[in-house]
Amino acid sequence: MVDKRKTSDNFRHYVDALMNGNSFFSGSIIYRSSIIAFASVHIVNALLFFFAGSMKMLAANVVMSVLLLTYCLNMIKKEHLFSAMIFTMAEIMLISTVSNVILGYDSGFQLYLIACVTASFYFPFVIKNEKRNTLSLTLSILALCMYILNYAIHLMIKPIDPVSDTWTKILFVVNVIFVFMIMTVFSYLFVWELLSKQKILTLQNEQLDELANKDPLTHLLNRRCMNLKLNTALSELKKSGKRFTLVLGDIDDFKKVNDTYGHDAGDAVLVAVADTIMSNVGTGDFVCRWGGEEILILVHEPMEAAYSITEKIRKRIDENPVTHEGSEIHVSMTFGISESIPGYRIEHLIQQADERLYCGKKSGKNVVITKLPEGFKTDDNK
Ligand code: GH3
Ligand code: MG
Ligand code: MG
Repeated sequence: MVDKRKTSDNFRHYVDALMNGNSFFSGSIIYRSSIIAFASVHIVNALLFFFAGSMKMLAANVVMSVLLLTYCLNMIKKEHLFSAMIFTMAEIMLISTVSNVILGYDSGFQLYLIACVTASFYFPFVIKNEKRNTLSLTLSILALCMYILNYAIHLMIKPIDPVSDTWTKILFVVNVIFVFMIMTVFSYLFVWELLSKQKILTLQNEQLDELANKDPLTHLLNRRCMNLKLNTALSELKKSGKRFTLVLGDIDDFKKVNDTYGHDAGDAVLVAVADTIMSNVGTGDFVCRWGGEEILILVHEPMEAAYSITEKIRKRIDENPVTHEGSEIHVSMTFGISESIPGYRIEHLIQQADERLYCGKKSGKNVVITKLPEGFKTDDNK
């Protein structure tokens, strides 16, 4: 069984995250994982440099991975995520340029500057920073400038300490793989977060819709929402002559149910009756909890069709007792029906249905009334 409280706690967490415009992941988790991943890239590269015989690059990579794993992780521990981000971005830009100067452009270290663009958007997105868009754009422009600088360096000076042609090619391929991996992971996380937020928005809309338009006990429409539906039905009648029928139902001897079995049993009866009605009306029809145990149905059919639907509902309710805490409670319901007439106001139609319902109560209950008998007096209904 689903733990409703836990679901609603999760929901609240997601909505809070959404409202704050934050990532679903905690900033520290994203930063820590990224730093460990970047340090691993340095360690793999350091190993490659060891075999390629480039001691300068080996030393640079070891120093950078140690700095990332000590300084940056410490910053994250202290929740100084902004400093950790600036340090990481600066480190990527610096090490790409240094690698380019030492090994040359063909090793492909400048490609990490392109990966910086995705990181420039995702890192500020994860932390709560009001100027994150400006920050992202600034970091991206900086990465572009560094890329052009790297190209200029390549055009102007020869590499200080290049490795062999084969190692240059190996390094290029390894760098391309790492750069694609970094860009894929950040892009994937971005899309995942956006889709999750979309899902949360849909859930939130459903909850708001439920709160604004539904009765919390029966989940039927509330009176406010039904009034809107009635007005729409009336304007459609005026515009295109589309007829509709109003069915007003009231549970028979409901006070007795409450008195005999208790208020909770009364509630269970209301829920069961609502379910029975809902499962027997058309998909375009509307069912509303009009008052305590009074239910109003808007059927988009003429009187004859609405009558047979109502008769079916009445029989189902009458024939299926509600079971509550071991007791079988027999329930019946009386209905009054009125059909839309061009020029009639909604209040008038409801009053007509109410009079017929009253007539049904007077004539022994558990019936559907579509017409008042000759000479029936409704005065004492008021
Ligand atoms: P009748 O056949 O003439 O309709 O008799 P009745 O006893 O059903 O009379 P009435 O319609 O006046 O009774 C309404 C009762 O419904 C009174 C009220 O206590 C009860 N009621 C209204 N709302 C709720 C509810 O949400 N839960 C429960 N358990 N009872 C409710
Ligand atoms: Mg009643
Ligand atoms: Mg009543």
